[in-house]
Amino acid sequence: MRVYFFLIAFAFPFVVFSQVQKAPERKEGEGPWNQLIIRNIILVDGTGAPPVGPVDIVVEKNRIKQIEIVGSPGMAIDTAKRPKLLSGGKELNCDGMYLLPGFIDMHGHIGGQAQGTPAEYVFKLWMAHGITAIRDPGSMNGLDWVLDEKKLSSENKITAPRIFAYTVFGQGNKDPISTSEQAIAWVRENAKKGADGIKFFGAAPEIMKAALEENKKLGLRSACHHAQLGVARWNVLNSARAGLTSMEHWYGLPEALFEDKTIQDYPLDYNYANEQDRFEEAGKLWKQASVPYSEHWNKVMNELLSLNFTIDPTFNIYEANRDLMRARRAEWHENYTLPSLWKFYEPSRVSHGSYWHNWGTEQEIAWKENYRLWMTFINEYKNRGGRVTVGTDAGFIYELYGFSYVRELELLREAGFHPLEVIRSATLYGAQALGMEKEIGSVEVGKLADFVIIDANLWRIFNYFMAQGQLF
Ligand SMILES: [Zn+2]
Repeated sequence: MRVYFFLIAFAFPFVVFSQVQKAPERKEGEGPWNQLIIRNIILVDGTGAPPVGPVDIVVEKNRIKQIEIVGSPGMAIDTAKRPKLLSGGKELNCDGMYLLPGFIDMHGHIGGQAQGTPAEYVFKLWMAHGITAIRDPGSMNGLDWVLDEKKLSSENKITAPRIFAYTVFGQGNKDPISTSEQAIAWVRENAKKGADGIKFFGAAPEIMKAALEENKKLGLRSACHHAQLGVARWNVLNSARAGLTSMEHWYGLPEALFEDKTIQDYPLDYNYANEQDRFEEAGKLWKQASVPYSEHWNKVMNELLSLNFTIDPTFNIYEANRDLMRARRAEWHENYTLPSLWKFYEPSRVSHGSYWHNWGTEQEIAWKENYRLWMTFINEYKNRGGRVTVGTDAGFIYELYGFSYVRELELLREAGFHPLEVIRSATLYGAQALGMEKEIGSVEVGKLADFVIIDANLWRIFNYFMAQGQLF
């Protein structure tokens, strides 16, 4: 998505960003206490370990101090083993509940003027779905706006996930970036301002190379949506070699897998600016790449694996392409989708991702096949030890904040992930991709107390979060 930003960043660098309303001061919530003990809960720690419990989890100063198995299922709790509550401490009896690490949305735009979504709306939908950290992959609200919200969130002054700000490459620069020197200068400035990374959409090869190498040198992370305008001369493999840490969506990957062509088989009346063209032809792209498990397919995958490269597929954001009615009629829209956002989703020649002018069975069938080939790659990447993360890109194409995250979990399941592999992608792998695995991403002693507690069995988790009316 977000070629919208691409145009802003590169064609109109002088534009003044219009911003949406910031989140109000937090008024809900209890604590902090000098000690918190979560008792009698089943733990899914995010590392891939199976559920275990009942356990008591002790938190002090926002960190996990102790995790204690306190008995055997069906038997009385072994009180001798129970951690003791300090005076001024707080206990939560979570009998029959499950505890997981907070979820990480690796592709979470905080919304913009076009969607008409105030930050509070987006933040609370995320939090209600267990998302306690997001990576903002470029915001129409601008870096300063995002950094302000990030700070307020970290100080617990607003109700919001932890925020990791990845600036759109070139954003805020007074001229378009056209040389390696300018690219390096921008990358240094971005780090100085306090951004956590960069979001690319593609650029000339020498500029991509210079920017990625400099960013890596500075120790920052990066994400790239390889827009079709740039993939003929710079695909995912080029980026990964130059130091890109994660790819978004999927564009640029089939191109790295081409064997019998070097450019996508575009019809000659194609126009990239016409999104009906763009998304319709994209649905035929995976079929043009090398066959799963072929020599070339294996070679590309293995090189990406050797570069410790993260793939953030955002399956959900394309799902309307394979089943428009499902996405459009999802049961939560009526109660949770803001009218301005609904308006933004409706067919439009202007709104990004609203290309429903002539979409029918032929397009949907092509996209179903596209998904099959794409999911085969992603599942095998995971099987060979690759890091696949959970990102949504919500706020476009009938995908709603929070709800789309759970749908993304379901789509990883459909791709072949075991539910525990899905949870690991949503938690530990996200944290690793952010460089935050020492602090968040799994429930282990010493890490931050960043949890999701659900009143349901793990195997019902997706249904649980999908269920309307249980969120607030
Ligand atoms: Zn995006």
